[in-house]
Amino acid sequence: MMNYVVIDSTQCKGCRLCIETCPRHCISLGSSLNSMGFQYACFQSSECTVCGFCYYICPEPGAITVHKGEPEGTAS
Ligand code: SF4
Ligand code: SF4
Repeated sequence: MMNYVVIDSTQCKGCRLCIETCPRHCISLGSSLNSMGFQYACFQSSECTVCGFCYYICPEPGAITVHKGEPEGTAS
């Protein structure tokens, strides 16, 4: 079973708070810019413990959603 986080690139302002707060270093800043010109954060690790720290610290409502278990459409 793999937990994962989805970051909405259209809402992220690239503040890095989620990156700094994640105890498992699951999130990093991507190299692409979103439509607002911000370098947005990307989830990139299978080490997520669903602690929710990234979700709670993110100042943008709806930019981060945390999911327990496998992404839809994949076998568990
Ligand atoms: S839920 Fe916790 S472990 Fe998972 S990406 Fe967010 S801060 Fe990191
Ligand atoms: S805390 Fe939210 S706005 Fe800031 S980099 Fe992470 S996802 Fe983007």
